[in-house]
Amino acid sequence: MPLPAFKDNYIWTLRDAKRAAVVDPGDAAPVKAYLAKEQLELVAILATHHHPDHTGGIAELAAASRGIEVFGPRGEPIPALTHPVSEGDRVAIPALSLSFSVLDIPGHTRAHVAYYGAGSLFCGDTLFACGCGRVFEGTPAQMLASLEKLAALPDETKVYCGHEYTLANIGFALTVDPGNAALAERQRRARALREAGKPTLPSTLGEERATNPFLRCAEPVVVESANKYLGARVADPVRVFAAIREWKNRA
Ligand SMILES: [Zn+2]
Repeated sequence: MPLPAFKDNYIWTLRDAKRAAVVDPGDAAPVKAYLAKEQLELVAILATHHHPDHTGGIAELAAASRGIEVFGPRGEPIPALTHPVSEGDRVAIPALSLSFSVLDIPGHTRAHVAYYGAGSLFCGDTLFACGCGRVFEGTPAQMLASLEKLAALPDETKVYCGHEYTLANIGFALTVDPGNAALAERQRRARALREAGKPTLPSTLGEERATNPFLRCAEPVVVESANKYLGARVADPVRVFAAIREWKNRA
């Protein structure tokens, strides 16, 4: 379940009756309140990348939980990190009978990682519902390769990303990929969820592949839209990706 933090961040919690782990706790306060209310012991923290809205609560939570394990990308400044991880590593949380494989997905930040296991993907600020993160520290080619790596996971994979940006992302996606019936349907569902005060997440990778323009850079309609934006003819998926990413930054 998600704990809302700041304006639109989610801190994902994994738990059983007694213990919990959290992903990307940007703020300690909502996590502490939840642990106290549910009488849970925090046993692990997973960080996807170093941005403060994903890591700002780690030091305080780690200091309050003896023996806690903190997993995060090797090569990024993560507070209280006990287990630096990168591609191919496994993250085991035996207290919760959970295990994840680590995927390197650079682009938003230099060493951003995702955690994949139990049919779930925690992907921070790389893949968003119907969108993707900004390319701050990597290149468009790296970011697209990272998105393609995630898109290769099974259709039914649940996508847990770091922010509630879905409705705005769908609005942009409709300008790039007009006439996509699955996208229009997704907008109806997402609006209904937000009107009911519910998160639009997790989504599924199948849904992302059908509707997320950043995973559809080889689709003729997306290529055509990128060309209109650029006023030039490009077909290379990296250039298409870079064009729609820049377009979205300005939208
Ligand atoms: Zn970020």
